[in-house]
Amino acid sequence: MNPTPSKIALRGDLLDFSADPGFASPRAATGVRFRADSWLLIDDGRIAGVQAEAPGADYQRVDHRGKLVTPGFIDTHVHSPQLDVIASHGSALLEWLEAYTFPAESRFADEHVARDGAARFLDALLAHGTTAAVVFPTVHKASADTLFAAAQARGMRLVAGKCLMDRHAPDGLRDTLESSEADSRELIARWHGRDRLAYALTVRFAPTSSDAQLAMAGRLLGEVPGLYMQTHVAENEDEVRWVAQLFPDARSYLDVYERAGLLNERAVLAHGIWLDDADRARLAATGAQIAFCPSSNLFLGSGLFDWRAAAEAGVNVSMASDVGGGTSLSMLRTLADGYKVQALRGVKPSAWQLLHAATRGAARALGLAREIGSFDAGTLADLAVWDWARGPVATHRDALARDLHERVFAWLTLGDERNLVETRVAGVRRYQRH
Ligand SMILES: [Zn+2]
Repeated sequence: MNPTPSKIALRGDLLDFSADPGFASPRAATGVRFRADSWLLIDDGRIAGVQAEAPGADYQRVDHRGKLVTPGFIDTHVHSPQLDVIASHGSALLEWLEAYTFPAESRFADEHVARDGAARFLDALLAHGTTAAVVFPTVHKASADTLFAAAQARGMRLVAGKCLMDRHAPDGLRDTLESSEADSRELIARWHGRDRLAYALTVRFAPTSSDAQLAMAGRLLGEVPGLYMQTHVAENEDEVRWVAQLFPDARSYLDVYERAGLLNERAVLAHGIWLDDADRARLAATGAQIAFCPSSNLFLGSGLFDWRAAAEAGVNVSMASDVGGGTSLSMLRTLADGYKVQALRGVKPSAWQLLHAATRGAARALGLAREIGSFDAGTLADLAVWDWARGPVATHRDALARDLHERVFAWLTLGDERNLVETRVAGVRRYQRH
C-alpha cells in the first residue's frame, strides 16, 4: 500500500446519516446527510470534518468530484470459508449445510487453507466496499487465528470467533466442551480488544451445541467484558421444528439462547424470520440485534423477514450478506434484495432506511458508532467511493433522476461492486479499481 500522509482531503458527494430514517417515506425521512461536492477531511486516519471550501495546503487532496462517497459498509453476518460454496444449487438450509458447507469448512482445519481463505475473503470484502464485518470462520482454532491476523494486517474492524459445535456435525467439524472452552479462552486472550478486533462467542446454531456448551458460552460471555455473541436463529421452518425437538423445555428457539445467558446488547443473531411477538420483546429488552440476510433468505427459500414488526417492537436490525447462503458480498445487492423481500411483505423501505441499516444503524447496534458507520468527526475514516452509475442503462437512469432519493435508490438498485472506485480503511487506501 502507498504510504499515507496524515492529512487527506477527499472531494466528492458525501452521503451518511445522523439518525435513523426508519420507515418514513423518502421525502419525510430525517437523519439524511448529503453534502454534494464537499471535502471530507481526514487527519491521522480519523474524520476531522466536512467542509464546502478547499482545505489548506497541509492536506493532500484526493479528487473524486462527481462520485458518491459513503461510510464503508458493515456486514453483520458472513461466513469466511463459504466463498468456496457460494452459488451452490438446489437445497434448503439443513441439506445445504450437509451437502456443501460442512465439507468446505472441513478443509479449514489446514492452517495454509485457512490463511489463504482469510486473505481472499477480507480482500474480497474490501473490493465490495465493506470495511467492517461480523464473521463466522470454522470450528478450527486456526481459522479464527488466521482471520484475525489478516484483519489486523489490513487495519479492519472485525468481530469473529471460532465456531462452537460439539454435536450434530460430521467428523473433523466437532469440538468438545473442554476443547471449545480452552480454544475460546486462548483466542480471546490473543485477539479480543487488540487493535480493531473483538471476539465473539460463536455458537453455530442451537442444534450443533449441547446444553453444556451453550451454558459454557453464556458463562464466558458474562465473564469477559466486551465480548460479542453471534449465532443463527429461526431461519428455516424445518430447523425451528428440529430445535423444538432438541430443546423441549424451551419456550422458543430464541429462548434456547436466552436461557443459556447468550442474549445481550452485543449479541448478533442472523435471520430471525420465524419469531413471535414474545421473542421480539426479548430481543428488544436484551438489546440483541437481528442481522437481516435477504439474499440468503431468498436463495435458500427460508422466508421473508418481518422488518416492520421487529422495528415496532424496538429490535435493532442490521443488514448482512450471509455469504455463502447469500449470493453476493455486495451490500448494494444485499440492500436491493432487502427491498424486494420487504416488498413481498407489502412494505417499501426507503433507500435511506436500507443504507442506514448497513452503516450507522449497524454501527450503533454493535456499540461501535464512535468508531464506524458515519462521517462524524472523530470516527475512523472507513469509506467507499462509488460511481453513481456504470453502463448505459444505469447512466441513462441516473441522468433522469428528479431528486436525491430517486438517484440514490437507482444507484442502490442497479449498482454493485463494479461501481466501486476505491475503499479506505482508517484513511488508508486498501482497494483501488484498476
Ligand atoms: Zn449464516
